[in-house]
Amino acid sequence: MTDDEFPSEPEAEAPIYTPPPKAEEAVEAAPAREPERPAPAGPQTLWFEQALLADGWARDVRFTLSEGMIARVDTDVPCQPGETAHGPCLPGLPNLHSHAFQRAMAGLTETRGPGGDSFWTWRELMYRFVDRLGPDEVQAVAALAYMEMLETGSTRVGEFHYLHHDKDGSPYADPAEMAARIAAAAGETGIGLTLLPVFYAHAGFGGVAPGAGQRRFVHDVDGYGRLVEASRAATAGLLDAVVGIAPHSLRAVTGEELTAILPLAGGGPVHIHIAEQTQEVDDCLAATGARPVRWLMNNAPVDKRWCLVHATHLNAMETERLAKSGAVAGLCPITEANLGDGVFPAPDYLAAGGAFGVGSDSNVLIDAAEELRTLEYAQRLTRRARNVLARAPGSSTGGELFRAAVNGGAQALGVAGGLRRGRPADFVTLDRTHPAMIGRDGDALLDSWVFAGRHGAIDGVWRGGRQVVSGGRHHAREAILARYRTALGSVLA
Ligand SMILES: [Zn+2]
Repeated sequence: MTDDEFPSEPEAEAPIYTPPPKAEEAVEAAPAREPERPAPAGPQTLWFEQALLADGWARDVRFTLSEGMIARVDTDVPCQPGETAHGPCLPGLPNLHSHAFQRAMAGLTETRGPGGDSFWTWRELMYRFVDRLGPDEVQAVAALAYMEMLETGSTRVGEFHYLHHDKDGSPYADPAEMAARIAAAAGETGIGLTLLPVFYAHAGFGGVAPGAGQRRFVHDVDGYGRLVEASRAATAGLLDAVVGIAPHSLRAVTGEELTAILPLAGGGPVHIHIAEQTQEVDDCLAATGARPVRWLMNNAPVDKRWCLVHATHLNAMETERLAKSGAVAGLCPITEANLGDGVFPAPDYLAAGGAFGVGSDSNVLIDAAEELRTLEYAQRLTRRARNVLARAPGSSTGGELFRAAVNGGAQALGVAGGLRRGRPADFVTLDRTHPAMIGRDGDALLDSWVFAGRHGAIDGVWRGGRQVVSGGRHHAREAILARYRTALGSVLA
C-alpha cells in the first residue's frame, strides 16, 4: 500500500544495467568505516522516516531492538533529539540459493568455446575450477560473496553446499570441514545462514556412477547422515542458523536415496535443483516416463518445507501442482539468464497462487534488486508487455515482487519473514539522497530501487540487530577483500 500516488516513471537516462564495483576499484575507495563491534548490550532504538512492516508501509517508525530481535515497533512517532533519522527501511531480501565458491569464477566463463556453449560446457569449467579450491580459499570467497549480498540488500543466504571433500575426493578429517568454512564466512560477515548440505551420488538418471569431476561432492546415504549431523555442529555457534537438506537433483539422487535422506531434514527445509535444463527434462522423461517436477510431485511429499530451485521448464499441469503444493519456487534470474536456462512461467504460476523467492546461484553478479528486475524483464522481453508480474491494476511491480520474494525466501530458508515485533532485526535502509530515491515514497521506492536504483541505493544493513553495512559498505570490507585477493592469487596462478 502506498502513501502517495506516483505517475509512471519517465525513461531513465542512465544505463539500465550497471554492474557492481570490481573488487580492485572498491579497495581504492574509503577505508572501512567501522571495525567489527559487539552487539549492543541493552535495548537500542532506531528511527526511520518510513518502513515496510509485515502489514504494510508505516511512517515515522521506531524499532526497539533487544538481543537481535525487534522487541517493539512504534509508528507515527517523532525522531527524538539525539536520535539518528534513517532512510526508508525494508526487510532484507532472503537469498535462497547460493553456491558461494562460484563467485570466484564469475566472468571467467564468458569466452566462447569451440562448440556451442551451454550450461553443460559451463559445468565442465566449473568442475575444473573446483579442483583448485581448498578450505581457506572457500572461506575467503564465501566471505566476499556474503559481504556483497549484505551490501546489496540480502540479510540471509541459503547455501546449497556441495563441495565437501579434499581435492583427491577423500573426506577431510572433519566431514563438515567445508561446511565449517561456510559457517565461518557467515559469522565474519554477519549474514544469516541456512546451510543446505547437498547429497550427491550419481552422474545421471538411473544411478549412473559419478564422474571424476564430481569426486569432491559425493556421499553414500550413511556418509551423508554424518555430514548433516556434523553440519549442525559446525553452525551451532552462529546466531539463528538453520540446517536443512539438499538432494542435489533427480539426476544425482535416485528415488530410493531421496526417500532415505528425507528424515534427516528434521523439520528443516528441503531444497532440490529441478527442471533447469531441457536436456534434464528429456533425460528424466526417458528414464522415468515423467517430467522432473511431475515425477517429484508423484514420488515425494512436496509441501511448504520444500524449495524447488529453478523449476524453469514446467508444463501447465506441473505449474498448477507446484503452485498448489505450498512449496517455494527458487528462481535465480541472473544465473538462469547467464546460463541460458530458459524463462520460468511466472505469470501462470503466480496466477495459481504459487510462492517464490530469488537466489543468486552461481553468484556471477550479486544484487538483490537486479534479481527481481531480471525476473520481470525476462517476462517483458518474451511477452512484449510491461508490468507483467504485477497482478492487479494499480499494483506496483517492484512492490509485489519484493513482498512475495521476502515471504517466499523466508519460508524456503526456514525462518519468519517481514518486519514486526518478535522478528529478527534483519533490515536495510535505502539512501534517501540517491537520485533514484528522491521524491519517492512507499512502493514507488521499491519500484525505483528494483528498476532504477543502480549501485549505491542501499545505505545501512542490520543483521541480528547489529549494523554490518554503513554508507553502502560492509564494516569488514577491507579485510575480506584482502583475503579474497590472496586466495584468488593461488587459485588463478
Ligand atoms: Zn544451483
